[in-house]
Amino acid sequence: MSSTPIKSVLIVGAGPSGLLLALLLATLSPPVKITIIDAAPTLNEAPRATHYGPPAIQLFRKAGVLAEIRRDGYMPEKICWRKLNGERLAGYDRSLLHDGGLDGDGLTVYWVGRLCRLLERELKSRTGTTVKWGHKVVDVKSGLKVEDKEVTVVVEEPEGKTVDYSADYIVGCDGGNSTIRRLMHGQRNFPGFSWDVPIVATNTLIDLDQFGWEDTQFIIDPVHWYMAARIGPHPDPKQNVWRISYGEKAGLTNEELMERQEMKFEQMLPGHPKPSEYKILNKSPYRVHQRCVEKMRVGRFLLAADAAHLCNPFGGLGLTGGIVDIGALFQCFEGMHKGLADDSILDVYCSVQRQKWHEIINPVSTGNITRMFKQDPDKALEEDETLKMIKRAETDLELSKQLQAMANELVYDYTKHYSKAAGVEGAARL
Ligand SMILES: Cc1cc2nc3c(=O)[nH]c(=O)nc-3n(C[C@H](O)[C@H](O)[C@H](O)COP(=O)(O)OP(=O)(O)OC[C@H]3O[C@@H](n4cnc5c(N)ncnc54)[C@H](O)[C@@H]3O)c2cc1C
Repeated sequence: MSSTPIKSVLIVGAGPSGLLLALLLATLSPPVKITIIDAAPTLNEAPRATHYGPPAIQLFRKAGVLAEIRRDGYMPEKICWRKLNGERLAGYDRSLLHDGGLDGDGLTVYWVGRLCRLLERELKSRTGTTVKWGHKVVDVKSGLKVEDKEVTVVVEEPEGKTVDYSADYIVGCDGGNSTIRRLMHGQRNFPGFSWDVPIVATNTLIDLDQFGWEDTQFIIDPVHWYMAARIGPHPDPKQNVWRISYGEKAGLTNEELMERQEMKFEQMLPGHPKPSEYKILNKSPYRVHQRCVEKMRVGRFLLAADAAHLCNPFGGLGLTGGIVDIGALFQCFEGMHKGLADDSILDVYCSVQRQKWHEIINPVSTGNITRMFKQDPDKALEEDETLKMIKRAETDLELSKQLQAMANELVYDYTKHYSKAAGVEGAARL
């Protein structure tokens, strides 16, 4: 199947991954017709991603949006693990990797709702492309077979009418409940598992600086395990917004989870605050999962980000991993568009991105969540290998830098497979 140059791409899902892909594809010449649709009436403002690692920052720079993200976000410095009583066990200083300052790759905090608004605005102002909100993919007519010349899906428009949408390729960026994934893979479409324990994520205005808290802390405790991360700094500490995400008991309904929030805060947070001492800006319960699809490409259908793989949010690998997919897919499309690769490079995409999830994202994120609730906090510094290494890195700055730079291992250079003459047969060796 050859596809040079690409004439059109249909992106399903206007979350951060779909919008970023649209913005990158808009830089290709000759122009690619980009259609981006989303089933929801408007952007999702739930409290989700806030922290983006270096690979995501590199792609924000490439898309020309990093300056604004750095202007309105911030670069956290200190991260640590503590016991419930506040005792600090180990941690590191992220500013060691802030070499390039505001232009560098350092980890950055920026609310995902803001990110989506920024990407949508840039897409519109640079290309005139607007998101078709309220447009839902409901079925497929063609594109799942290798020999299909294009992809056609059935889209339900806001007033209920169904219309066929066709393109050279379709990219499912439609999140954890992806319809595109189901159309590609049928019922058994998402191997992996869901954690028994639900989590509750809140954005909370509270003064945790009075307790000497760092930018991010993970609290190790079998019952009251949680993360508290500063997500909006302010000169007046009382104005800081914190992402407080905590684990809950299995088997509770969403209503019960929400009702228990005041009790949980009083029992687990330092100072045992009453509701009058903080203000909840958003709160939402989540079920969390470790899942990865078996194929990210079938015919002219592709998957990226949450539609392809999920992990628990502790450590911020969810969207960072999704954004790495977007950078990878863009490099593949760019090579095809310029005639430097045929579309077998998309099979390399499928193989490499899955491998990165299985070898890095899944084990690291699993370690991040279990570290908080599956061990005795009093023995964590003797028995938890990762924590022991982080403790060693407190006095070994080179080790600290190495540990923190590991997120860069998610990135793969697809231009290695560019070669007009040779094609991309090397793909098969991966
Ligand atoms: C509490 C929490 C905290 C998190 N924190 C971090 C963090 O700090 N760092 C990090 O990297 N990640 C984090 N994550 C993960 C991150 O939020 C997700 O990985 C990210 O939002 C996924 O983006 P996406 O674009 O893939 O999908 P989504 O944002 O889910 O967007 C999918 C879009 O597809 C649309 N859609 C669905 N079905 C259809 C259809 N049939 N037709 C058309 N449109 C459709 C939906 O309406 C939606 O707008 C966190 C997650 C949670 C829950």
